[in-house]
Amino acid sequence: MFCRKCGKEIGDAAFCPFCGAPTKEETSSVNENKNVEVKKSDDDKASGWWGVLGFFVPLAGLILFLVWMDDKPKTARKCGLGALISVCVGVVSTILYFVLIVILGPAIFGSLGIAFGTTTFLS
Ligand SMILES: [Zn+2]
Repeated sequence: MFCRKCGKEIGDAAFCPFCGAPTKEETSSVNENKNVEVKKSDDDKASGWWGVLGFFVPLAGLILFLVWMDDKPKTARKCGLGALISVCVGVVSTILYFVLIVILGPAIFGSLGIAFGTTTFLS
């Protein structure tokens, strides 16, 4: 370890033997860290609206997630989660849509076609 004031090698001593300066400015550094934390969390409010944005615009949510991953992890997570849910819902609804069309479609539309098709198309 080197002295903060005079720069000499002083080992693990609490005070510099050359100039007497304290080697560990614990109180001030802790306070600085706390201020940074508070500032970060103030800025990183992780509003639910970001999740809504990510849900409706998954691409924007994904981009914001990547951009804010380091600076605003909570907000980034909301965006990413919204985008993820949106993609999942999209995939699931697409699958359900195809399942309905392929499996249930012929049965439903077949019977409907017989019931309504004849009346609407022939009238
Ligand atoms: Zn010193």
